[in-house]
Amino acid sequence: MTVSHHPSPDLLTAFAAGTLDHGQHIAAATHLAHCAACRARVRAVEHLGGAMLDTAEPDALAPDAFARVRARLDQPVPAAAPQPAPGLSDVPGLPDFVRRLPAGGWSWVAPGLHMRRLGLDPSSATRVFLLRSRAGAKFISHSHTGFEMTCVLAGSFSHGGERYAAGDFDLGTPDISHDIEIGSEGPCISLVAMQGALELPGLLGRLFQPFIRF
Ligand SMILES: [Zn+2]
Repeated sequence: MTVSHHPSPDLLTAFAAGTLDHGQHIAAATHLAHCAACRARVRAVEHLGGAMLDTAEPDALAPDAFARVRARLDQPVPAAAPQPAPGLSDVPGLPDFVRRLPAGGWSWVAPGLHMRRLGLDPSSATRVFLLRSRAGAKFISHSHTGFEMTCVLAGSFSHGGERYAAGDFDLGTPDISHDIEIGSEGPCISLVAMQGALELPGLLGRLFQPFIRF
């Protein structure tokens, strides 16, 4: 797998520092499960943070502190109410800890588009869901009132002249409006972490907006 789109250094630093909320943490960790380069960057940040602590408080760290920090990569934040979600076993490229989150079934959103919401810690301001888009589908330009993190699990999509395939990470912000075209090789399944609402322009937006609730 060749991963060519990554989270920003700031986001990886926040992941290493443990300051992301549950939903943001899941999106970043899903990318990290696919990307050795970003795992190395996170470890570098953790070592740097550990070195700074060593300088300031020589006796403050427990002997196993580094091992426990590194273990966070493999043991993400647990869900508030973990329960079996056998239906998620058919979703390719999903990390095991996400498979253990409570999840509903696939529901229709728009022609060629289905979603599946994941249950998170109630304190998370970020919602997380899976999106499954039909091969070759095109979605009209939309923007967001908050950020949108997307990690591709299968298939691909393109926008802004860039193609995103399995493992790739895409950050949408309120100043970005984009058309999306799904790759023709097969359905595209992505994990999405979102704050705010999706906004569609013009008449189509007014027609569809009442039916689209992410
Ligand atoms: Zn990466």
